[in-house]
Amino acid sequence: MDTLKSTTGASVPLESVLCTEELKRRPSRPPDYQAENKALLALAQELTNSPGSVLQRLVDIALELCRGHSAGISLLEEDGPPGGLSPGGTHFRWHAVAGQWAPLVWNTTTPRDDGPCGTVLDRNITLLFSNAHRYYAQFTGVHPLLVEGLLVPFHVNGQAVGTVWVIAHDETRKFDAEDQRLLESLATFAATAYQGRLSISAQAKANQDLQAEIVERQRAEEALREADRRKSEFLAMLAHELRNPLAPIRNALQILRLTPWDGKTGQPAMDMMERQVGQVVGLVDDLLDVNRISRGKIELRIGQVELASIVNHAVEAARQHCESMGHELTVTLPPKPVYLNGDPIRLAQVVGNLLNNACKFTDKGGRIWLTVEREGEQAIIRVWDNGIGIAADQLRRIFEMFAQVDTSLERTHTGLGIGLTLVKNLVEMHGGTVEADSAGVGQGSEFVVRLPILVETPKPPPESTVSAPTPTTARRILVVDDDEDSAESLAMLLKLTGNETHTAYDGLEAVEAAATLRPDVVLLDIGLPKLNGYEAARKIREQPWSKGMGLVALTGWGQDEDRQKSREAGFNGHLVKPVDHAALMKLLADSGAG
Ligand code: ADP
Repeated sequence: MDTLKSTTGASVPLESVLCTEELKRRPSRPPDYQAENKALLALAQELTNSPGSVLQRLVDIALELCRGHSAGISLLEEDGPPGGLSPGGTHFRWHAVAGQWAPLVWNTTTPRDDGPCGTVLDRNITLLFSNAHRYYAQFTGVHPLLVEGLLVPFHVNGQAVGTVWVIAHDETRKFDAEDQRLLESLATFAATAYQGRLSISAQAKANQDLQAEIVERQRAEEALREADRRKSEFLAMLAHELRNPLAPIRNALQILRLTPWDGKTGQPAMDMMERQVGQVVGLVDDLLDVNRISRGKIELRIGQVELASIVNHAVEAARQHCESMGHELTVTLPPKPVYLNGDPIRLAQVVGNLLNNACKFTDKGGRIWLTVEREGEQAIIRVWDNGIGIAADQLRRIFEMFAQVDTSLERTHTGLGIGLTLVKNLVEMHGGTVEADSAGVGQGSEFVVRLPILVETPKPPPESTVSAPTPTTARRILVVDDDEDSAESLAMLLKLTGNETHTAYDGLEAVEAAATLRPDVVLLDIGLPKLNGYEAARKIREQPWSKGMGLVALTGWGQDEDRQKSREAGFNGHLVKPVDHAALMKLLADSGAG
């Protein structure tokens, strides 16, 4: 960009190039209102038809009506690339030029404080200049010369922000009071037109913003409706999924009630109950996980783990499902151990989910393969089946929350559509990826998990992730739960395993019973009437006799923050309901007492 730079250093005073008084002295030609009206009408039409070129039209008219050799409009703006009008700007930009100077300097700016325009704005009046180059050095090299220049200020929103000007490049043209009147009238028009343009574009911008906001609101509303629809669908599905295992549990209970008690006949019914309870617990766990994921609250317990042992664990857990479907499962592990930094339970959950899906979505007597390989610095876990397959347009969608290919009532598969969401999130939290592939419906499916591995082999051999329940010695145990059935059944179970048990049903009763019975272990629910579990635990811990007493929280809340809270209240164990029997036995064995 080419800027008319000033090197003022003028040797003459400013007043010597100003001759505004001449306007009054010179004989003035009579106004030609007809020509002026015609010109203003043309301008008004231009404004309506093509507002973008109204300033150019205006200077063309100024040139013609004032019979100048050049005419133009300069507006203040900041220095730099073309920007918007800036009343406090440091430079003038020629927004429209006509006549001999038209080819001269386009897209240029001149400094505000070093030109006739600046002087006009300083004084905020019309000024007539003669041979401006004698004072303003920026005109020194400019040809044709500014021999006489009439400049009037123009105002936008009451502020002088530019000038409209006509120039004579030789002595043949002298401006008079009529030129001043004409140019001032045109400047007023220019200001109005410009202001109009500004408000039109502001209006257009406001309209655009409004439209964008409407679209955004519509989108948000649609998303809310969709979320609501999904939620209703999900609740219906959840009710259905919970009913499924509850029905056989109720049947099994009836069987037990009707069959004369002996271990043998009751065994299948009890096995069935155990399986179905396991299914409900799995569902609730998945639900809690998915809720944690959507709140970004899942925490990994990262350690150095060996992949094959994790995979074996998951395979063992899924084997029964596989066998019940008559599937043949082939597992291929890498010849050498592959180590990674990960959470063993979560990684087993990933593999387990993929295996269970392969079992579910493969017709009875199908085949499932699981391979673990090392590829460079990645471990690749592949689970594939010869099952029902997945249509190409569903391959991405199935990883979304609650997404299922078949949501019909007649569907034969169980599930809530959250397993793959969990898989994807857990794998990504480990820095890995998961992809689904299928040649189409009926063609089987393949899931590939890639996880970064530890390149160096860790020093100590990793511990087994599964720990066998430890046998326990007889204890005096106080079970506290406001749900009497829960308290009684747990007490009964503990009695059957050789312990002395007592029950209490609220927090105050718990503290009193602890004081009189001095149990070895108190299994204490948290949500209790009268005194909640935390308060009851604190009260017990205040007593010297509670030293060495095991206090175990029994609660539906199992996140890290819940465990932290129970620790702070004085608990030395934390179990999540429904309590896993093996975990309880281990905790009793580990607890200090006895
Ligand atoms: P769910 O199994 O509870 O329906 P998931 O999130 O685990 O939920 O899976 C989502 C959907 O992906 C399933 O409903 C099913 O349509 C499809 N899917 C998952 N695994 C397979 C597989 N191995 N073969 C065919 N379809 C599958």
